[in-house]
Formats: sequence, structure tokens, C-alpha cells
Amino acid sequence: MTIGVRAPLVLADAFGRVATDLRVSLTDRCNLRCTYCMPAEGLPWLPGDEVLTDAELGRLLTIAVESLGITKIRFTGGEPLLRRSLEHIVATAKALRTRAGTPPELSLTTNGIGLDKRVSALAAAGLDRVNVSLDSLDRVRYAALARRDRLDAVLSGLAAAEAAGLLPVKVNSVVMREVNEVDVVPLAQFCLERGYQLRFIEQMPLGPRHEWDRSQMVTQAEILARLRERFTLRPAAEPRGTAPAELWQVAPDASQPGGRIGVIPSVTAPFCGACDRTRITADGQLRTCLFSRTETDLRTPLRDGASDAELAAIWAGAQSRKAAAHGIGEPGFVPPARTMSAIGG
Ligand code: SAM
Ligand code: SF4
Repeated sequence: MTIGVRAPLVLADAFGRVATDLRVSLTDRCNLRCTYCMPAEGLPWLPGDEVLTDAELGRLLTIAVESLGITKIRFTGGEPLLRRSLEHIVATAKALRTRAGTPPELSLTTNGIGLDKRVSALAAAGLDRVNVSLDSLDRVRYAALARRDRLDAVLSGLAAAEAAGLLPVKVNSVVMREVNEVDVVPLAQFCLERGYQLRFIEQMPLGPRHEWDRSQMVTQAEILARLRERFTLRPAAEPRGTAPAELWQVAPDASQPGGRIGVIPSVTAPFCGACDRTRITADGQLRTCLFSRTETDLRTPLRDGASDAELAAIWAGAQSRKAAAHGIGEPGFVPPARTMSAIGG
């Protein structure tokens, strides 16, 4: 009689996708109020006792990496730098070992405020990379968009990330019509000069209620047209793979050394078919997609004494029901109840 060897558990779904990339929201709070993300007055924040503790989070990260095949973890929020224990969480994650025996790849999506003071400790704890969100280099426009006058702090954070060797530094920019379209070329020039990898993001219907209008959204095609007014672009050679950004190679010229620029066309050219993500919110709810209208509660079983194997099975079961696509633009599309900052972008 042969004894069957059980295949290791993976986060597979019915459409042949396997999630290996985990996005973890560390807090729903933020020190900015970007107009595309949050209302001016902020949001009703999660009560402290609903947010996963460091120990609870550490347990879920261990299950994700050691039992479910996760190889990459991105910490986000809200603003993840508002989590005081971030360095400890990063060190906990870096001590884990993937099935290949290597530590998981760790990155942080941040607005950059206060990054200058913490980036050395974060790098020492095992952080590999940062994505800093920066939508304008003009102080007045930045302050209008983020509803806080913090451009200088963001620029210090970016420079500190570069000095700490968290390379390549990545920059995320959401483009809004008649708000910061004029910033597309200056942001590109700034990033190319410094070797930062810039990603423009199409605005998604995940901000304050009823404020997204597809006809007002600046599309990938429009962003590229603006870039082509100043730079020579050709599609980058590598296939997009599971990456959300489509990449363009910028030819060098007298004012910049060339480099890559990406556009994340979440609305006009969604990449759902290649999605390799799974997400947990700060309050321990599992989401298989940014746009999921349902969540799976991991926190209650975690607090009620479920075993690691039981939690892994809940996670794998939920992921197996992941929808084929987000459905933006389809008749009947309804955005999720939580907005971007509460989900973890
Ligand atoms: N606070 C951090 C930051 O801003 O980088 C992390 C959280 S934020 C929700 C993550 C990313 O989502 C940012 O790059 C932000 O620009 C982007 N984002 C927020 N709302 C968005 C929306 N409605 N459409 C597209 N991107 C959005
Ligand atoms: Fe805060 Fe990031 Fe949302 Fe801006 S995009 S309000 S920095 S969570």
C-alpha cells in the first residue's frame, strides 16, 4: 500500500491563479487626506481592539509564508509608518522562510512622511524596498491634493530611502484631471534624473463615495500622450507578468539618463487574469481582491483559538473563491464598502 503525499497548500483559485504576494494593511489611519482616497474629515477609524496586535499579525504572516506559499509581503495602510512597531513587524517577517528556504521579499507603500527618520532602522530590520506616493512636485498643488502641506517631508523621505540603499526607489503617482496632469512630465523628469522608478496609477473608484467618474479619469493613453510630448518612449522588452504596471523605456537625452516609467492601467487595461495577490486588512479581514464586496474574517477564529492548519484552510478556501475580475466598467459594478485607505492599497 502506498501512502499518499499531500501536495503543499497554495492559495489557488478556480481561474488557475496562485497568490504568492500578500498585501498587509497595518493601520487604517493616515496623516494625509489625499482627495482621491479620503474625505477631508477623515474616516471613522477602527477601534484599537479590532486591529490585529503584532503577535496576531506575526502569526498570520507565518502561516502565509510557511504554510501557504507567500513569497512577497507589502506593508501598506492607511499610512503604515503610523504603526509604531513597524520595524519589529518587518523583522518578524524577515525571519520567516519561504518554501524555497529564503526570507520573503518585503516592501512598504508609504506617503513618505517620517520615512527619513526610520528608513535606516527599517532597512536594518530587513525591508527590501519602498514605494513612495508623490502626486506633485509643486508645493501648492501637493498641499491641495493631500490636504496637508507636507511636500518637503516626502522629498526628505525619498532621499533617505535612496541613501539607505532601498533600491530601486519607486514612486507612485495618481493622476487627476485638471488637478495634477501638469505634473506628469515634471514627475517623470525628477524620477529619471534620480534613477527612481515612477508608476502612474489610473484613479480607481475606491475613494470617497460617489466622487469617481470614469469619464473624468485620466487614462493610460492620456498619460502616455503627455509623456511623449517630452520623452521618446518604447515599450519595455520584458513581459508584464504578474506586475500591475505596463513599463516603458525612456530614451536618454541631454537632461536625463533614460530609464523606465510604468503605468498601472487598473481601469482601462485590468491585469486581473494575472493577479497573484491576497490581502489582509488591519482588522484581520481577508480580501482576495481590492474590489471584493465580501471579506473573510480571520481575526475571530484567530482569537477563538483556531489552529494554524485551520486558519490556513480558511484562507485557502476563501482564495479559491476569488472572482475572475474586478468588473469596473461592467453594468452593475458596485464599489466595495471600504475605501482604499481602509482596505490597504
Ligand atoms: N498611505 C500610503 C501611500 O499613500 O502610499 C499607503 C496606502 S495608499 C492607499 C496606497 C496607494 O494607493 C497610494 O499610492 C495611493 O496613491 C493609491 N491610491 C489611493 N486611492 C486611490 C484611488 N482611488 N485610485 C488609485 N490609487 C489610489
Ligand atoms: Fe493616506 Fe495614502 Fe490615502 Fe493619501 S493615499 S490619504 S497618504 S492612505
